[in-house]
Parts: sequence; C-alpha cells; structure tokens
Amino acid sequence: MTAASPETIVSIEGLRKSFGQVEVLRGVDLKVGKGEAVVIVGSSGSGKSTCLRCINRLEEPTAGMIRVGGQEVTGPKVDLDKLRRGIGMVFQGIHLYPHKTALGNVTLALRKVVGLGKEEAEAKARHHLEVVGLAHKADAYPAELSGGQQQRVGIARAMALEPQVMLFDEPTSALDPELVGEVLNVMVRTKEMGMTMIVVTHEMKFARDVADRVVFMDHGAILAEGTPQEILVNPQHQRIRDFVMRSH
Ligand code: ADP
Ligand code: MG
Repeated sequence: MTAASPETIVSIEGLRKSFGQVEVLRGVDLKVGKGEAVVIVGSSGSGKSTCLRCINRLEEPTAGMIRVGGQEVTGPKVDLDKLRRGIGMVFQGIHLYPHKTALGNVTLALRKVVGLGKEEAEAKARHHLEVVGLAHKADAYPAELSGGQQQRVGIARAMALEPQVMLFDEPTSALDPELVGEVLNVMVRTKEMGMTMIVVTHEMKFARDVADRVVFMDHGAILAEGTPQEILVNPQHQRIRDFVMRSH
C-alpha cells in the first residue's frame, strides 16, 4: 500500500478456490488501499478473473477471508445485494440493456439499485455520462454506440453508484484496437477521481503508467508484487520476464 492510502478498502487473506478437484486459487493475499490502483497481470488461466469474481461473490471462495470497506464478504449472513452495490464491475463483454438509451441504462441502475427518483437519477446519470465524455450520446441506444462508447457507458453506470471499489476484468480485450485508448483514458480519469481500482489487463502501458502496484499471478497464487518498475521493467523472476517479453 502506498503512504497516501492509509485506509484498506479491499482485504483478501488466504483466498482459495477449487472447481471440483482443480484448485485455481491457491492462497491469495492482497490488500488494496483507498484510492489505490492495483493492476493484476498474468498468463491466461492463472486465476485473475476468479480472484476478482470472488470479491463480489460471483464465485464462492473455497477458503479464506475477503473484506470490502471493513465488511466481511465471505461468511454466511452477507447481504449480497448490499455488498454488490458497493462494488462496481466492468467486464470484457458489454452488458448494457439494448432497449434502453445510454442515459436510460445509467438512470435505471440509480433508480433500481439506489432507489433515486426519476429526476434525481437522470441528473446524476447525465453527470456521469459527461465524466466519461458521452453527454452528447445520452439518447443513443447501445446499437448506435461503438464498443468503446458502450464500455464507457458501463463505467459511467458503475461509477454512478459510488462504489467503494471498481473491478475491471479485461475491459478492453474485446474492443477493436482503435477503441482501446478511449476506454483506458476513462479508467485513468476514474483513478484521478480517487476511485479504488483493481484492474486485470494486458495493456502493459496502462499498467506501467497508471498502477500504483502491479500484482503478477501465476498458477493461482501471487508470484510477485511491487511497483510497475519492479514487476514490469526489471522483473526478478524468469516467469515474469517471459511474460513481459511476450506482452510486447
Ligand atoms: P484468468 O482470468 O487468469 O485467465 P480464470 O480465473 O478465468 O483465469 O481461470 C483460472 C482457472 O480456473 C482456469 O484453468 C479455468 O479453466 C478455471 N475455471 C474458471 N472458471 C471455472 C469454472 N466455472 N469451472 C471450472 N473451471 C473454471
Ligand atoms: Mg480472465
């Protein structure tokens, strides 16, 4: 954790996850401080997505403890709806309602999840569309938006709910190369606004430029973590060197 982030927002201790006989998380420990951006990198199948999905209980951990904002996520009596309200998630695929406009998508979340009235929800939704640079697309339907714009609406929708942490799982992987930058720029903005973020990405430049800390996952465990410089520029492990070489 950096000195500027004294408060722990996400705390993961001894996280294990098995699918049947296969152990895909083998004891993950990770703490993320308020306002910190942690980027998780690692080969396909190393358990990055499973780790993120355990944080909002889209996957049931087999063992270990996760806390978000001091609240225990693991444990039998957790109100999952309440928990997930505090955790924004943006995936690789795009998950907008096709029959709702950009504004409608963000407004709906605020009305249904937060319970805001129509006017207040719309005003807030417009603000968040503006933050992602899409005020002028408020009335467009998803089919009228590029993949990058749709992903930005998804980020606006998640951010509008004022989550304690935003989880990004390869948010640009499904996009045409020319649309990747606009989504990464919005993520930079999100970080600049002080949001706590855990980002799984193959965008090494983003990781180098934006991450406060880079975590390298290997076979279901954290092999190394440190500054982008330590992990991505001067890696000490051969496995990470190989990964970085392949990522260029
Ligand atoms: P990554 O995101 O790093 O590519 P994942 O977390 O998606 O890795 O997957 C880690 C391992 O867990 C992989 O071997 C994958 O096949 C396996 N896995 C993921 N989800 C499931 C599931 N629902 N059932 C069985 N195996 C799974
Ligand atoms: Mg994945």
